[in-house]
Amino acid sequence: MIVEERMRTYINSLDMGNTPFLEELEKKALAGKVPIIRKEMQSFLKLILSIKRPARILEVGTAVGFSAILMAEYNPIPCEITTIENYEKRIPVAKDNFRRAGRESQITLLEGDAGEILKNLTGTFDMIFMDAAKGQYIHWLPDVLRLMKEGSVLVSDNVLQEGDIIESHYLVERRNRTIYKRMREYLWQLTHSPVLRTSVLPLGDGAAVSVKTGEQVYETTRTIGSGEQP
Ligand code: SAH
Ligand code: MG
Repeated sequence: MIVEERMRTYINSLDMGNTPFLEELEKKALAGKVPIIRKEMQSFLKLILSIKRPARILEVGTAVGFSAILMAEYNPIPCEITTIENYEKRIPVAKDNFRRAGRESQITLLEGDAGEILKNLTGTFDMIFMDAAKGQYIHWLPDVLRLMKEGSVLVSDNVLQEGDIIESHYLVERRNRTIYKRMREYLWQLTHSPVLRTSVLPLGDGAAVSVKTGEQVYETTRTIGSGEQP
């Protein structure tokens, strides 16, 4: 748990909900144990869409298409969405949902491993939503950066690992340790990259929000000499 349960419940109680299609899709997904973005991330994505108004969106991790449809419905401008999924069982379900939502011409599903697909994608996207295998984000970052231009926004979900990220390496369950190490490295890269401005937020399961900037050359107190203030 990242944020106290009562706080989370209160914040979510203010949520106005989604379009009827999305409400139904969310219920079905939760009942079928299909992963979808949490309420907190839903409202956050809507906010980013309203600020950024992205014409081209890339999503990594479609599942059954809930977040892709949400982005299509809540972007104030008509947009093109490309989304990637490799789990064969979910692909036809997602496609069917895009059709039923009337969004099939707007959303393109690329089938296969995101690592392979990202390598071969060209052009740039105004917004990228990373919501797939957490342990792979760090490996995909070079391609993700190539697919962003100045002003492009990257939203990475599930970056705080249910709170595990702040535990000692030894306290993290063995099977989660690789992800833990890679996620710490990913967050370090996002926050120290000269071409990104990043804020890490304790939202939902943890979100990192980055904007691509021009090359930044700036000094911070942390890099000045011994760190002592004059
Ligand atoms: N964004 C979705 C939820 C995605 S859940 C929503 O909110 O509606 C994460 C999805 O990423 C899963 O369906 C999983 O199969 C997919 N995934 C994980 N690793 C992947 C990879 N290497 N390539 C493509 N898809 C991947
Ligand atoms: Mg997720």
